Amino acid sequence: MLQKPPAGELYLSIQNLWKAFGSFLALKDITLEINEGEFVCFLGPSGCGKTTLLRAIAGLDLQTKGTVMQDSKDVSNLPPSERDFGIVFQSYALFPNLTIEKNIAFGLENSGRSKSDIAVRVSELLNLVGLPDQGKKYPAQLSGGQQQRIALARAIATNPGLLLLDEPLSALDAKVRVHLRHEIKELQRKLGVTTVMVTHDQEEALAMADRIVVMNHGVIEQVGSPTEIYREPANLFVADFIGEMNQIHSQVTKGGRLSVGEKTFACISHSFNDGMPAIAAIRPEDIIPHELGYLDSGGNRNCIEVTLDEMEFLGSFWRCRLSNERFGSSELIADFSINAVRRLELEQGRTLVIELPENRLMAFDVPEAAA
Ligand code: ATP
Repeated sequence: MLQKPPAGELYLSIQNLWKAFGSFLALKDITLEINEGEFVCFLGPSGCGKTTLLRAIAGLDLQTKGTVMQDSKDVSNLPPSERDFGIVFQSYALFPNLTIEKNIAFGLENSGRSKSDIAVRVSELLNLVGLPDQGKKYPAQLSGGQQQRIALARAIATNPGLLLLDEPLSALDAKVRVHLRHEIKELQRKLGVTTVMVTHDQEEALAMADRIVVMNHGVIEQVGSPTEIYREPANLFVADFIGEMNQIHSQVTKGGRLSVGEKTFACISHSFNDGMPAIAAIRPEDIIPHELGYLDSGGNRNCIEVTLDEMEFLGSFWRCRLSNERFGSSELIADFSINAVRRLELEQGRTLVIELPENRLMAFDVPEAAA
């Protein structure tokens, strides 16, 4: 499957890349293209091959098979030192015995620049990452977030064509992480540097990436913009990995509807044959609550009566657990607005009607283990 980027100048092209560790295949036939200036996140569960792919791009681990082209040049067999990138790791990796200035200057010292040029560039970089007065300190005297800013300054010091970020935020506490992700994104936009970031944090990927590459077991499951990945997941793995997703066992009936017990629902079109089992899936925020009479009023046929078993106040909305014997043991989770809960006077134990909007109800193949 060729993963084409949106229109733009092609910068990084990975073709049919395989990586084996002994008999274990960590990457299986990865093909991916990334445009100049794009911010791409590799996202997936632990062990899916994200870091291995990043390391193959950097030349830190060589692929078993396949090619990596950077800026129209085949770099597949070049060592890291002959490739054009800057890299930031999770564990800052600053030299503890060097001052912040010296840490940043490290990569510049072999670039043939004069001492005074290097000093100017270091101070420029310190300003760029918002730490103009910290140059004389040592890494241990800075907070984790500050150290990661310095690692970033060091990575971009030589103006590389490619910035690689390997879980750069995961060692930081939640508040600093959110703050720094905005800063990194802003800096990346300002510099226009093509960036690839590894993360297992879906929120981070949704917030930062122009495109997300969702990986699982060494293969790419889907490549798309954050909204595509969230709203139009290609399969149940992606649907389930990103955000909350209700899943109901169903069967495909005539006209492509999904039947759950005797009730059938219209859904987003799919390619299944009649009679096939399928998973009906809908996000909690897409379920619409209605008053009980709504069903009798001849309203939407994608409605069903449910019992509100539990509700939890989550600040900006109510998370509700809903059941109906047709759903078997699976409960539905629905996120209702504070206004809707007030208007419909919803409380635990009440019955209500919910609508599963046709354009939000998806159908997926049943995963093999569950089929
Ligand atoms: P995480 O989020 O946990 O870092 P990841 O998606 O980055 O996971 P990788 O580090 O790329 O995963 O590893 C992919 C698979 O390859 C894992 O099963 C891992 O155990 C295996 N692997 C990685 N490096 C080696 C190695 N040097 N030798 C043997 N197996 C390895």
